[in-house]
This record gives sequence, C-alpha cells and structure tokens, in this order.
Amino acid sequence: MNVAALIGSPVAHSLSPAIHDAAFAACGVDWRYVAFDVPAGRADAALEAMRALGLRGLSVTTPHKEHVAACVDELAASAATLRSVNTVTVADDGHLVGHSTDGDGFVNALRAAGIEPAGRRLVVLGAGGAARSVVVALGRSAVADLAVVNRTRDRGEAAAALVNGARVGSLDDVAAAEVVVNATSVGMGSGESMLPAADLHAGQVVADLVYHPLDTALLGEARSAGCAVIDGLSTLVHQAALQQRLWVGSAPAADVLRAAAEVELVRRDGADGTDTLA
Ligand code: NAP
Repeated sequence: MNVAALIGSPVAHSLSPAIHDAAFAACGVDWRYVAFDVPAGRADAALEAMRALGLRGLSVTTPHKEHVAACVDELAASAATLRSVNTVTVADDGHLVGHSTDGDGFVNALRAAGIEPAGRRLVVLGAGGAARSVVVALGRSAVADLAVVNRTRDRGEAAAALVNGARVGSLDDVAAAEVVVNATSVGMGSGESMLPAADLHAGQVVADLVYHPLDTALLGEARSAGCAVIDGLSTLVHQAALQQRLWVGSAPAADVLRAAAEVELVRRDGADGTDTLA
C-alpha cells in the first residue's frame, strides 16, 4: 500500500482525506491518505519523515507552504515563482519536488464551468497565498486584463508583479470585469461579502475560493445580481485532481472528488469546521 499525507496545522477539519481516498479508490490504486498535524517550523522534519517512512506524496497547507518551498530539492515552475508549495512528489531516490496546484486548480475550475480565461478581463480580490497562485496561473493563460485588488496596497503590488500583464487595480475595475475572483479570506466562516450585488451585473462570472461555508455571502450577492457563480469547492477538487495526477499519474473526473467532499460535508452536518486547505 502507498501512503500520501497532508501536513499542516490545524488539519482536523480538512476535506482532503475524503477527497483523495475517494480518488484513489476511483483510480483502482492501493493508496491511502492521512492528515498529520505538524507544528509551525517543523516542515523540514516532516519532509525527512516523508523519506524515512516512504510516503509517496504530500499535500502541504498552512503554515508550511513557504518552509517546504525552502526545503525541497527542486521546485516546479509555479512553485518556484510563488516560493510556495502545496504538493510534494518523491522520486525513488528520495529526491523531493515541490509543486503548487491551487492556481491551476482554479483555472481548471473555470474551464469546467465553460469559461476559458484567454482573452477575458479578470479581477482578483486579495494578494495572499491563494490570490498569488491564481495570479500566476492566470498570467500563463493569455488573459486580456488582470487586475489585482487588495486591501494592503504593497501586497497587491507584489502579487501583480509576479507575472507580466497583471496590474494593481481597485474596486472600480469590478464593473468592467468578466470574471471576478474572491481570493481574500472574507466570507470564511462568516456572512461577510467582499462585494454587494449592486457592484455586480448579469453576464459576469463570480468565483469564490472560500468554501466554508460552501455557499458564501458573496455568491448569494452575485446570484441576485444575475451572475454565474463558481464555489470554492470547485477549485479545491480541481487542485486535488492535479495532485492526484502528480502522485499516481491519473485522476478521476473532478465530479467524483466533489461528490466525496459533499458526502463528507453532509456527514459533518454543519459541524464548526475551521477552514483548512489542501
Ligand atoms: P492569506 O494568505 O491570509 O490572505 C488573505 C487575503 O485576504 C489578503 O489579501 C488579505 O488582505 C485579505 N483580507 C483579509 N481580511 C480582509 C478584509 N477584512 N478586507 C479585505 N481583504 C481582506 O489567505 P490565503 O491562504 O490566501 O487564503 C484566502 C482564502 O482562500 C481562504 O478563505 C482560504 O480558505 C481560501 N482558499 C481556498 C482554496 C481552494 O482550493 N478553494 C485554496 C487556497 C485558499 P491584506 O493583504 O490586506 O491583509
């Protein structure tokens, strides 16, 4: 049996074990996925344990993404740009490669909803880890315009500087955007919305990366403005499918992963989950 694991803290409420175990089963491979609560500052020890225990893959979440990026033997392109890792693969000789699948997972979620980013005008709200990964992935997607809007301007500037063609924007850019992405933590575990319906209009697509709650206040505002919406679980399962391909070489349809996550959410029946990624 092969084992993949999540390292982070906290991890108790992560949906990843449910998602990846369902994906392994659907692929017909003898793999299992476990979550380890690893305290801040111990990611290097966790990577050494990965080698020693023969773990075949790692997901990495808060607070270890930057630490892991500094400790692996090699960084794939997106992770190198971001200096942040959410996935580790291991070769037979123990060589560890760090990857970042969040941004490409978001782009795949867009495409699965029938939205090709090329040629579109997008606004990304936020400049934290999630926003930066989305900006880097969109920067490779031939978008027509990419405005980064963040509360703290210098973090917004740093995120926009990650790729050619991105710029710092303001909330005034939202009206002209075809796709608006909430990559802030606003709405996570709360009824807050980054935007009111009055700032949105029919024809726009509004995607939220927040998935706790699944139906965020922003998505409610967007629907009442006539927008199409994409929830945060879509990005989560698409990035998990990319992890699965890196580890196993194949992945089931994202719908299979989503169904597993939804079953797990129903099983918890609204238990107060601290939002935990990966
Ligand atoms: P982070 O690094 O802590 O960044 C948080 C971002 O939110 C920053 O840009 C911050 O702005 C902004 N922000 C926080 N409070 C705000 C407020 N009251 N008003 C305006 N902006 C505010 O967090 P992260 O890792 O990027 O994660 C962001 C969200 O994405 C979380 O909810 C996370 O769960 C979700 N996420 C989902 C997925 C997925 O697969 N669906 C993947 C990754 C992350 P400042 O720079 O001004 O502080």
